Amino acid sequence: YADRDGQIWMDGQMIEWREANVHLLTHAMHYASSVFEGERAYNGKIFESRKHSERLVQSAKLIDFEIPYTIDEIEAAKQQVLAASGLQDAYVRAIAWRGAGEDMGVASAKNPVRLAIAAWEWGAYYGDAKMKGAKLDISQWKRPSPETIPCHAKAAGLYMICTMSKHAAEAKGCSDAMMFDYRGYVAEATGANIFFVKDGEVHTPDPDCFLNGITRQTVIGMLRDKQIKVHERHIMAEELEGFEQCWLTGTAAEVTPVGSIADYNFEVGALTRDIAESYEKLVRA
Ligand code: PMP
Repeated sequence: YADRDGQIWMDGQMIEWREANVHLLTHAMHYASSVFEGERAYNGKIFESRKHSERLVQSAKLIDFEIPYTIDEIEAAKQQVLAASGLQDAYVRAIAWRGAGEDMGVASAKNPVRLAIAAWEWGAYYGDAKMKGAKLDISQWKRPSPETIPCHAKAAGLYMICTMSKHAAEAKGCSDAMMFDYRGYVAEATGANIFFVKDGEVHTPDPDCFLNGITRQTVIGMLRDKQIKVHERHIMAEELEGFEQCWLTGTAAEVTPVGSIADYNFEVGALTRDIAESYEKLVRA
């Protein structure tokens, strides 16, 4: 991703893609003091752009720093990046972090807070799983307690266990891993929320220790508009066996059907397909 043409917005300016570098002694590199957003533009418009900018600012606050730009400035910068990319459909990545500066210890109040935004083309996150259903493994890592880490921040530090989980799943021929939380309840995948269907009703974990995804909220709204009951609740491991359908939601994942989680199999049923299609229509509307 580093060696390509294009421009990246960095600290208020558009710079050449290849020159968008940071110093080795950047605080975020050593201590994970970084928050980010993943957004998608469809037909030239970023879906739920403002909600993503608001979450970015909120994530920074949760890990104890202030992004030195207003929501409106972040919105304008994203538009500038999207326009410069020449793309109609794009993935937009905004990232804010504690930079290199006076401090090199854990404390870094004097270091500058930086912001950068890039956009590129990114197709289906799970490849052809959209039709067949993604194959998921179960992660050995648990989503941590809210007493351990600010778990509603989209913060880099929370992704360390996601990368390890996803690598372990891929080594077994799976596309991703489902993670339980610290109590043993079903939580989410490594970069997407999870939904289940049983007897025409939808069940999804209560997001009390992980990201309440913007796509998740959109899909719950769509389901309720269709008069389908949605239960946001704690889901136990033993329940996996009884669910008929399963899908993932996320900005990158969009709505991706799940075919299996370890030994539990699901059908890519009518409701899953309907929600995936309705989501695609909505983001392009
Ligand atoms: N959980 C995790 C760990 C994620 O990385 C994402 C993607 N941001 C989500 C859930 C879904 O969030 P959203 O729908 O806002 O993209």
